[in-house]
Amino acid sequence: MAGVTGFCAAAAAAGTPLAKRDDVLMVLPGTLAPDVLAARLQDSDAAVVMKLGRTFDGVREAAKRAGVAQRGIYVERASGPGQRIAPLAEVESSVPYMSLVLVPTATGASTATASAAGRASSEGRGGSVAVVGLGPAGPQWLTPEAQAELASADELVGYETYLARVPHRRGQRRHSSENRVEAERARHALELAAGGSRVAVVSSGDPGIFAMASAVLEALEDGNGQYAGLEVRVVPGLSAMQAAAARVGAPLGHDFCVVSLSDHLKPWEIVERRLRAACEADMVLVLYNPASRTRREQLARAIEVVGEQRAPSTPVVVARAVGSEAESVTVTTLERLELDGVDMRTLLIVGSSTTRIVPGEPRLVYTPRRYPG
Ligand code: SAH
Repeated sequence: MAGVTGFCAAAAAAGTPLAKRDDVLMVLPGTLAPDVLAARLQDSDAAVVMKLGRTFDGVREAAKRAGVAQRGIYVERASGPGQRIAPLAEVESSVPYMSLVLVPTATGASTATASAAGRASSEGRGGSVAVVGLGPAGPQWLTPEAQAELASADELVGYETYLARVPHRRGQRRHSSENRVEAERARHALELAAGGSRVAVVSSGDPGIFAMASAVLEALEDGNGQYAGLEVRVVPGLSAMQAAAARVGAPLGHDFCVVSLSDHLKPWEIVERRLRAACEADMVLVLYNPASRTRREQLARAIEVVGEQRAPSTPVVVARAVGSEAESVTVTTLERLELDGVDMRTLLIVGSSTTRIVPGEPRLVYTPRRYPG
C-alpha cells in the first residue's frame, strides 16, 4: 500500500513545484558530510534534504556552499499539527527530526549557471578557469569536488574523448578539440574566462600530471599580464598510476619515479637519461604514454635501457584502460614482458630491486616500505 512521501506533502504545504520538464530532483540524506552534500546539491537542479535534527547546521552550511541557500525552504511536520514553513535562512539551529529542506528548481536559468553567476557577482569576481581532473575512467573515480566544478561551469573545454565523459547540462557550452592542440585549448579557455565565463578545462587523471594544468599556466604566463585578475585553479584527480597500482596491490609502496615516454615535447636522449638515473637510484618506474600506433620503437628501447640495470625477474605491471570496460591489468616480469598490446591507454609499472610478487598470489605485487641494509 503506497503512501504519500513526506517531501511531497512538504512541497504541497509550501505551495511550490519541486522540478519541471527535464530537471533532475535529488533526494538526499542530511547525514551526508557537508562537502559531499554541497557537491550533490550543486549538481542537481532541485533537491530535498531529509533527516535533519542534529545534522541541520551542516545541511545549511552545505546549501550555502552550493549557492542554493536562498532557494531553501524549511518544512517541519508537513500536513500534521504543528506544521511550520520558513525560509531556510531564517531557521534557528535546533530543529526536530520530523523536518526537511526543499530546494525547488531555480526559475529562469538552470541551477548551475544561476549559482555560478550568483557566486561570481557576490564575490565581485570576473571569470575563472578551473583545470579539472576527471580521474582515469568512470564516475567512481571522479571526486565530488571535480563533479561540482563541472556542474557549475558555464563553458567546458577539453579533448573530445575526455569531454565525452562529462554529462551534458542545459545552459553549458562545450568546446572540444583534438588531443594535440593543448596550447591552443589553454589559450581559448583563458580567453573565455577573460570574457567573464566560469570555465572548466577537463583533463584525464590528475590535471597536473602530463596534462592541461601546465598548459594553462604556460598560456597564462605567455599572456604577459593580459589575464591578470583571472582566477585559475587546479582541481585534483586520481592519476591513472594510482588506479593501476591499486588493482595489483602496492607496487608504489616505496620511492618511485614517473616518466612519460612521449618524445613529442622533449628529446629522446632526456628520456633515456632519466630512465638510467631512475634505475641507478633503484626507484620503481612508472611509464606513461608508452607507445602509440606509430610510435613503437621508444618503448622497446626504454625496456632495453631498463634491462641493462634491472634483473630479468623484476615484476612488471601492464595496465590498460583501467576503470573502463576495456580494462586489462597483467602482472609479468621484465623477461616475459610482451609489448604488442601496449598502446596509448596503457601504463607500465616496473619494479625496483625490492618489488615482489606475493608468493602464491601471482596477481599481487608490492614494494616493501623498508629498504634492506
Ligand atoms: N593526467 C593523466 C595522464 C595523462 S598522460 C593522469 O594523471 O593519469 C596519458 C597517459 O596516461 C596514457 O598514455 C596512459 O599511459 C596513462 N593513462 C591514462 N588513463 C589510463 C587508464 N585508464 N589506464 C591506464 N593508463 C592510463
